[in-house]
Amino acid sequence: MTLTEKDSQYLWHPYTQHKTAATPIAISRGEGALLWDENDKEYIDAIASWWVNPFGHSNKFIADAIYKQLTTLEHVLFGGFTHEPAIKVAEKLIEILPKNQQKIFFSDNGSTAVEVAIKVALQYFFNKNEKRTTIIAFENAFHGDTFAAMAASGISFYTQAFQGMFIDVVRIPVPVKGKEEESFETLQNVIQNHHCAGFIFEPLVQGAAGMVMYEPEALAKLIRICQENNVLTIADEVMTGFGKTGKTFAMDYVSEQPDMICLSKALTGGTIPMAITTFTQEVFDAFYDDDINKALFHGHTFTANPTGCAAALASINLLQTQEMQANIQRINASHLTFQKKIENHPKVITARTLGVIFAVEIKSDSEESYYGSMRTKLYNFFIEKGVVLRPVGNIVYILPPYIMTDEQLQKVYKTIEEAIEMV
Ligand SMILES: *Cc1c(COP(=O)(O)O)cnc(C)c1O
Repeated sequence: MTLTEKDSQYLWHPYTQHKTAATPIAISRGEGALLWDENDKEYIDAIASWWVNPFGHSNKFIADAIYKQLTTLEHVLFGGFTHEPAIKVAEKLIEILPKNQQKIFFSDNGSTAVEVAIKVALQYFFNKNEKRTTIIAFENAFHGDTFAAMAASGISFYTQAFQGMFIDVVRIPVPVKGKEEESFETLQNVIQNHHCAGFIFEPLVQGAAGMVMYEPEALAKLIRICQENNVLTIADEVMTGFGKTGKTFAMDYVSEQPDMICLSKALTGGTIPMAITTFTQEVFDAFYDDDINKALFHGHTFTANPTGCAAALASINLLQTQEMQANIQRINASHLTFQKKIENHPKVITARTLGVIFAVEIKSDSEESYYGSMRTKLYNFFIEKGVVLRPVGNIVYILPPYIMTDEQLQKVYKTIEEAIEMV
């Protein structure tokens, strides 16, 4: 049996209708921005394997750090114990995060980072004996697949089977160009009419919605409205963190600072699953008490896994090198040139760029759904050409590893231009 045949016998894949989906491609190795399948066909990984891999596949620098940690202390429980890798990651993050972030809580993936933030927002007011149980979120948000994260998410594909079973979430429009005032007003109304505990948002770019972008000034205003009303703000930087927007964090563009930040995806350079939620001292203090019931009773078995911490430290060190910062600027400049080239194409609705993130919306005769027919046609075309891209409906986006070469990037652009002609 081939790997693919064995796969279909044993495995259940994420976001997959197995009856109609194509069989998965078995990847046997990766290096830099490239992947090879079991038949040695080469692919350019133009979405950094779901946005996790900025420094290339099989990165030796991170692998060495992981090996060293694995053979020193692979894991130890974090209840009642601590270790240097966790402390070093915390110190490093507090140095580079928005200045008000003072406390670091570890978990395992983006969804749990969000789950922790939402639970903290709710318990913060519980601990203060204040009834605030509503969470505010953007339309078309994506925050993960665990229950509170799913409740905050607004893409119906992911949540429709569970409607009616969620915590209380109220949605406001994203302040994209022309919708800013509507977004501000809706937020004011929601806060007046509900007992709001927190507002969670993807700062500047909504990833899973198709790289929908909005301006830092609009986000600053939404945060100020929350601050005036004592509503906690949660920046979900799971996708945007660690250089994707051109700055270390998307919040670095915004004049206001959030109460909490969620991190995962590129945190460990795409090697080991790990996540972090960060907090202000003020949030932490609402749990600091002689009463044990005021503690945050949340944890995961692998919390602050030392090997994951070693990978995170190595990744952040790589991100801070001049070489990597130059790569980010190089890709951004290249995207902007490509954007100019195609934005006036008759089949293009609009194109947009922020940092290494590029997205183009393609005209279509019918309303394109998330996993609709145009999406499938595009996806298959890209795979056949050896480029890994996962369109969202009629939106094709690129989120490359920062080490992608100019030549590889040009091939990705060319393939997208061909796809636009094809559909
Ligand atoms: C991917 C993502 C998540 C969920 O992360 P998982 O690791 O898949 O659980 C949460 N928020 C945002 C913004 C994401 O892009």
